[in-house]
Amino acid sequence: MQDGTEVDVSKASSSIKTEARDRRVIDDADQQRGVLTTKTYICGKCDSDQVYAELQQTRSSDEPETRILTCAECGHGWREY
Ligand SMILES: [Zn+2]
Repeated sequence: MQDGTEVDVSKASSSIKTEARDRRVIDDADQQRGVLTTKTYICGKCDSDQVYAELQQTRSSDEPETRILTCAECGHGWREY
């Protein structure tokens, strides 16, 4: 008398990939972004010409890229298109 069901374990094994990445959230909202430029952009707040500039590509090619500008002197941030 055979009682007991055999379960095929090899088929039931699920391949769950766990991403063991070391994720660190860096709050860089207050940091300057991009490269420091001089005499290219003028801060509208303190008239400084030391401005960090970072290009941000938009997804669609129709739209121009956005320059994220951050003043190195006072930290004032703005955008140019
Ligand atoms: Zn400024």
